[in-house]
Amino acid sequence: MPGPGAYWFGEEEIEAVMEVMKGGYLFRYGSENDPKFLHKVSSLEKEFAKYTGVEFALATSSGTASLLASAIALGLKPGDEIIVPAYTFVASYSSMLFAGLVPVLAEIDESLTLDADDIERRITPRTKAIMPVHMLGNPCNMDKIMKVAVKHNLLVLEDCCQAAGATYKGKKVGSIGNIGAFSLNIFKTINSGDGGLVTTDDSALYEVAFGVHDQGHKPMRFGVEVGTRNVLGLNFRMNEITAAVGLAQLGKIDRIVETLRGKRSMLKSLIAQEVGFKFRILNDPEGDCATVCAVVFNTREKAALVSGKLGSKTVDQSGWHVYANMEHILNHLKNLGQPHTKGSYPVTDDILSRTMIISIGVVDGGLGAGWGININSTDSEIEAAAKQFREACK
Ligand SMILES: *Cc1c(COP(=O)(O)O)cnc(C)c1O
Repeated sequence: MPGPGAYWFGEEEIEAVMEVMKGGYLFRYGSENDPKFLHKVSSLEKEFAKYTGVEFALATSSGTASLLASAIALGLKPGDEIIVPAYTFVASYSSMLFAGLVPVLAEIDESLTLDADDIERRITPRTKAIMPVHMLGNPCNMDKIMKVAVKHNLLVLEDCCQAAGATYKGKKVGSIGNIGAFSLNIFKTINSGDGGLVTTDDSALYEVAFGVHDQGHKPMRFGVEVGTRNVLGLNFRMNEITAAVGLAQLGKIDRIVETLRGKRSMLKSLIAQEVGFKFRILNDPEGDCATVCAVVFNTREKAALVSGKLGSKTVDQSGWHVYANMEHILNHLKNLGQPHTKGSYPVTDDILSRTMIISIGVVDGGLGAGWGININSTDSEIEAAAKQFREACK
């Protein structure tokens, strides 16, 4: 049960993959003079940069790799602290831990994203960066977060893995902070199975991120060794087949988001008259990508009752998106002297225990969004889901 892009795999993806196979070049580097080399990875980078409105995009093997490369590109060093919301996918923490950083968790608000007001309380002399996570397609309150960042001279790494297609006040996510990390995993807005992208306007950050993703090499080497290397890199490269699928999906992203917004607004209008809950806050109602419809109940009892009747669950029960359910991360936090027990982030715990996520485009039980509609649901299917929800609320 995947993201909306997977529901819309079609001839475009199939043809793009076949084209690459017929050309015979699967590696991101190839002979510039051979017309059979289709340079899909570098085309995806150019198209994604244009789409996001930034100077540079780097294709990688995953969102996790994008986060790790971004943290190193920012110059963050072992022991530096980065403020991360207590509600996010496990990779937001694990990537920072691998870079030797200390993830300092902060509370979320009823937008289910980082509470900008809680950030300042978490700042210490070691704080170097903030990671706003645009959770469930909903952009964070970036005006407030950027204000705190500027005031305290902190870097901003946007985790956009769940929010390709989202904008905040007219700017695409991934173009607001210093650097942004995206995922093309199957559960995201658009996907190529796995894959990722890094976005930035800063050429120096781009160069380091590139080196981290490719054994320290300089950008655009086309397989030829260029210059000396001073970045220690690994291999997080994307291959041509992945990029071919990614490009075909990117061509559909605006239509995907528009379709999801239409279906969600229909569903919302059909359930809005029920009492006992509010829809989660959207920091930019025009910019959210509408992959889900999150419903925040007044009480945890009601949330458990309604979600249970529908065969779903409240968000606090959803696996590796809730700090309290990540035993390995908690263990690391403990070793780093950070709060590491369930209950350490009471505001987040409370909100998540009162929230149910209705799927609109991302259908994912692991996210707590196993029940709802999908991008291909018809009007009568949406009406039926709404009726079921209303009855469960009685
Ligand atoms: C999916 C996700 C990631 C990791 O992306 P992968 O491509 O699966 O490595 C990171 N952060 C968030 C918020 C995610 O949802």
